[in-house]
Amino acid sequence: MNDVIIIGKGPAGISAALYTIRANLKTLIIGLNDSTLHKADMIENYYGFPQPISGRQLLENGEKQALRLGGKILNEEVIGIEKEDVFVVKTVKGSYRALSVLIAAGQKTADVKIKNLNKFEGKGISYCTTCDGFFYRGRKVGVLGYKDFALHEAIELIPFTNNITIFTNGRSPEFSADSSELAGKFELNEKPISAFEGGDFLERVVFQDGSVYPLDGVFIAYGSASTINFALKMGILTKNRAIAVNENQETNIEGLFAAGDCTGVFKQISVAVGQGAIAGRRMIEYVRSKK
Ligand SMILES: Cc1cc2nc3c(=O)[nH]c(=O)nc-3n(C[C@H](O)[C@H](O)[C@H](O)COP(=O)(O)OP(=O)(O)OC[C@H]3O[C@@H](n4cnc5c(N)ncnc54)[C@H](O)[C@@H]3O)c2cc1C
Repeated sequence: MNDVIIIGKGPAGISAALYTIRANLKTLIIGLNDSTLHKADMIENYYGFPQPISGRQLLENGEKQALRLGGKILNEEVIGIEKEDVFVVKTVKGSYRALSVLIAAGQKTADVKIKNLNKFEGKGISYCTTCDGFFYRGRKVGVLGYKDFALHEAIELIPFTNNITIFTNGRSPEFSADSSELAGKFELNEKPISAFEGGDFLERVVFQDGSVYPLDGVFIAYGSASTINFALKMGILTKNRAIAVNENQETNIEGLFAAGDCTGVFKQISVAVGQGAIAGRRMIEYVRSKK
């Protein structure tokens, strides 16, 4: 078992890891190669670089630093966090246990714009199968998404209904080899969607070719699982669609921390690194108190 699992290998996650690894805690970092920093060509406002450095280079340096000190990094998509006696972090490939977890997953949100999506939120459109699946017992539902996260959300719905369609909204499915077997369990609809329609509640999906698909609910799982998905599923308190933390980077769930862009702060590397350091220090105290 790990002492600490850190979700995210951007500045916040790696910064926290540098502290927990050097405190001799068994630290597992799980992340993808899609930090927002990848988009930054030239960084000139981060301490210690006389010449500009690219975001990509800074991220590479951070990973190398954590690995050199003895951290372990997995390139996997996290699809959920659960709390049993300890935390269980689920990825597309497996489950990993830890005494403490840091969410440092940035604030990337699913980039999907479909007419009336906002209008039907909470009225047929949901972002959380764990929270709302029960309301759709025996009903006809869809999952909007094209990656492993969508497949896993569809699996979560199976106990409630066997009438589940995955809508990719015109995108080719990007299911990993590990998950492609699961895809056969569901109807797949790849047509581009133009709107959600209904009365007080969602009643149908309308496609760009004019055809319609009647249903009772749609669960949004577009792209990779995001910070807000983790929060909704675990009952983590949020504020303005970011994770609410105290001055020690603690969430409302004991042993669960958050740092960086996902906490809704000033979105800068220096802030993410600073919050990561505070979280790392507090996680060390927490883990030691549990041993
Ligand atoms: C174009 C651009 C230019 C910028 N320029 C600057 C600048 O010049 N100076 C500056 O200070 N800041 C800049 N920023 C802001 C800076 O990039 C962010 O503030 C910083 O990267 C936040 O760090 P973070 O660790 O919180 O999140 P991120 O760096 O976004 O890292 C998030 C991590 O979480 C992982 N993750 C997310 N979801 C999952 C999942 N489901 N499973 C597994 N892993 C997951 C990601 O793969 C990634 O590793 C810029 C941002 C952009 C977009």
